[in-house]
Amino acid sequence: MINLHNHTTWSDGYLTPQQLADAAVAAGLTHVGITDHYRTNKLGRSGKYVDLPQLLDYIVELRLLAKWYAKEIKVLVGLEIDFSARTQLEPLLTSQLLNQLDYVLFEYVADAEWYGHSLDKLLTIRPQITVPVGLAHNPLARNFELLLEAEDLVAILEDHAIFVELCPARRNAVFAPDGRPVLPYRYPTAYNEALWQAFSRSQVLFSIGNDAHHSTAEIGMVGDAWEFLREHGLLDRLVTEHFWK
Ligand SMILES: [Zn+2]
Repeated sequence: MINLHNHTTWSDGYLTPQQLADAAVAAGLTHVGITDHYRTNKLGRSGKYVDLPQLLDYIVELRLLAKWYAKEIKVLVGLEIDFSARTQLEPLLTSQLLNQLDYVLFEYVADAEWYGHSLDKLLTIRPQITVPVGLAHNPLARNFELLLEAEDLVAILEDHAIFVELCPARRNAVFAPDGRPVLPYRYPTAYNEALWQAFSRSQVLFSIGNDAHHSTAEIGMVGDAWEFLREHGLLDRLVTEHFWK
């Protein structure tokens, strides 16, 4: 069991990194990822994000924490980027600091509701990032149905080595065409079914992250995403099996 999407007091989370790691150990996870928000105007007034001048300190502190916990759990050092005009990407890319992380999550890719940038734009910067890159809690079937055939979307993610996070948190549920809130990967449409069939035939990797912000109880709540991947025979495609075994 893994949870590679969590926030701490470095951004808008309530737990310190150490409290988060303790909760992950208590929940019996093998891997826990810390993915605080990089500076975004979404959190503009709060100041609750990691800005470029603090990014190196963030990485160094979390690397020390990872070392401290190494015998109990694998702590991974990530970052979540709001992929929209709310984020200034250029200085971040120029700093090369992204490549000191274990992985980078991009949220709101092709998400019209959040004015997210396109997947094409992500592909243009992808070569500058040498560590694993993933899409955070993306309702793929909602965001891409009108843009790309399911097969083509999967081929692009495969060709550019972009992994897909499954987020079982209710706070990231989306509304299905019938108005019910559903978890993004369980979007009840034919397109979504085609998408998961195409994923099965691909080499695309998957992560599980529940985007925890508030309590220790959230850290271990990843069962639904794990069950979904198991049902689809995709547990051997977990990013942790490939990068941080
Ligand atoms: Zn998040």
